[in-house]
Amino acid sequence: MTSKEATGGSSPWTVVIVGAGVSGICAAIKLRQAGITDFIILDKGNRVGGTWRDNTYPGAACDVRSHFYSFSFEPNPDWSRIYSPQPEILAYFEHCVEKYDVGPHLRFGQEVTEATFDEDRGVWSLDVVGGAPVEARTVILGCGQLNRPAFPELQGAGSFKGATFHSARWDHHVDLTGKRVASIGNGASAIQYVPEVAREAGHLTVFQRSANWIVAREDRAYTDKEKQRFRSVPLARLWARWKIYLVNEFDFLAFLKESWLRRRREKAIRAWLEEVIPDPGLRATQTPDYPLGCKRILVSSDYFPALNKSHVDVVTSPIAQIRPDGVETQDGRFFPLDVIIYGTGFETMSFVGPIAVTGRNGRKLDEAWARGAEAHRGITVAGFPNLFVCYGPNTNLGHHSIIFMIECQVRYIVACIREIVGRDLAVFDVREEAMARSNRQIQDAMKKTVWEGGCRSWYKTAEGKVTNNWSGPIIEYWWKTRRPDFTEYEERPREG
Ligand code: NAP
Repeated sequence: MTSKEATGGSSPWTVVIVGAGVSGICAAIKLRQAGITDFIILDKGNRVGGTWRDNTYPGAACDVRSHFYSFSFEPNPDWSRIYSPQPEILAYFEHCVEKYDVGPHLRFGQEVTEATFDEDRGVWSLDVVGGAPVEARTVILGCGQLNRPAFPELQGAGSFKGATFHSARWDHHVDLTGKRVASIGNGASAIQYVPEVAREAGHLTVFQRSANWIVAREDRAYTDKEKQRFRSVPLARLWARWKIYLVNEFDFLAFLKESWLRRRREKAIRAWLEEVIPDPGLRATQTPDYPLGCKRILVSSDYFPALNKSHVDVVTSPIAQIRPDGVETQDGRFFPLDVIIYGTGFETMSFVGPIAVTGRNGRKLDEAWARGAEAHRGITVAGFPNLFVCYGPNTNLGHHSIIFMIECQVRYIVACIREIVGRDLAVFDVREEAMARSNRQIQDAMKKTVWEGGCRSWYKTAEGKVTNNWSGPIIEYWWKTRRPDFTEYEERPREG
C-alpha cells in the first residue's frame, strides 16, 4: 500500500501503468529514479513478468542472446547460457522488481477494460473488473504485442474430446507420455516445444501452413570462469553486450529487399537444410518459398532433428475440420489424436490489449487504428493525450532485442511525464502532423524491407500494411527517441 492509499487519498495518481511485464517493470524503475513515486501498476495476473510469466511451455527460451536481452542498467553476469531459458529470464525480472523496490506499486488481479479521458480535468479514468475506477493524470500501457493467444477458426474445434491448450497457456497437468499429440502451427513457440514434446509423445503430428527460415542456435552454457570474469571485469561484460549489439545490428542488412547478405544467408541455410534433413520429401516441406526475414527468422538446432524422428510427422495439407477424436485434412486424411496444442501465435494488431480507449472528443482508439495502428515514435497517439504506449505500433524487431526498444520508450515517456508534472499540464497531445510525418518516414523506409511482401506474417494487417515492425536499425530508434521534441506536442496547462 502506498502512503496515498493508507491515508485514503482520492486525487488521481500521477501515473498508472497497465501491465507488470518487461515494459511495466522498466517504466516503474525509471519513474522511481526520476523521483516520481506516485504511481501504481495494475496487472490482470498474479505475478510480474508478462510474456515470461505466461509462456511456460517446455523448451521456452529467448532467441536473443541473454547479455543483450536484459536491461542496460542491470547487467547479469550470471546468465547460465548464451540463450537463457524462460525460468531464468522470469527470475531476472523478479530480481529487478525486488532490487529497485517496485513491489509496493504492484496491484495484481486488476484487469483494466476501459480507459476514458476527461479533457476538462486532464485525467484518465480506468475501469477495472470488479473494482472501483482508478484515476490517473497519465497512463502507460505496457500490455505487450504478444499477449492474447490467437486461435484459428477451425470447423469443429469445440468438439474435440481430448486435451487441448495454447502454447502460451500450457496445461502442465496433461501428461503427454505415449500420447498422440498434434501441434497446430510451427512458429517461434512451436519450434521450441516440438523437440521437447517429441521426447515424450507416442506420436507427434505438426500441422504446418508454411515453412520457416530457421538458423542454427549456437548455444552453450557459460563456464564458471566466464561468469567470474563477467562479475569482476565490467569491461568484459560490456564487451559481451556490445558484441551482440553489433552482430545483430549488422544483421539488419539481411532484412533489406536488395541485400547481398540476405541472398548469401538464404544459400547457406539451404545448404544446411541438406545436411540436417536427409529425407528430400521432408526437406521440401521445410524449404520456405518467400524471402528470408519476411516472417520472423527462427533459431533452433533441435527442431529439424525432432522432425527427422520416425514418430514425428509434418502435415502440410490444410486442416479441413477438427473432429471429436482427431483432425481431418483437406486431402481427406484423418489423424486420430489425444492432445491438440495450438502454437498459433497471438492477436497482434491491438497493441493495448483488449482495453477500450476513448480519448478527446469521444474518439475511440480502435476506430483511429481501424486502418492499421499508428503512433508517434510508437509511443503517443494524436487525440489521446497523456497516454503512452510501450512496445506500440512499429516498434517490434526482427533482428534485435525488444528490451532495448522498451528502454528507449521508457526514457522518452519519463521525460514527457516530467514535462506534464513540471508544467502542470492538463493536456499533452502529439500533433497530428508530427505523428503523420514520423509514420510516413517509417512506411517509406519499410518499402525497402522484406517485411512488406511475399509472405503472410503477424507483422502486417490484412491489407498488407506493416504495423508491428520498426523499419530500421535500433540505433536509429534510439536516436529518434533520445529526448522528446516538445514542439511536436500540444500542451495545455491545468486551470485554477
Ligand atoms: P507465430 O510465430 O505467429 O506462429 C504461429 C503459427 O501458427 C504459424 O506457424 C502459423 O502459420 C500457424 N497458424 C496460425 N493460424 C493458423 C491456422 N489458421 N491454421 C494453421 N496454422 C496456423 O506464433 P508464436 O510461435 O507463438 O510466436 C509469436 C511471436 O512470439 C514470435 O514471432 C516471436 O516474436 C515471439 N516469440 C519469441 C520467442 C523468443 O525466443 N524470443 C519465442 C517464442 C515466441 P503461418 O506461419 O503459415 O502463418
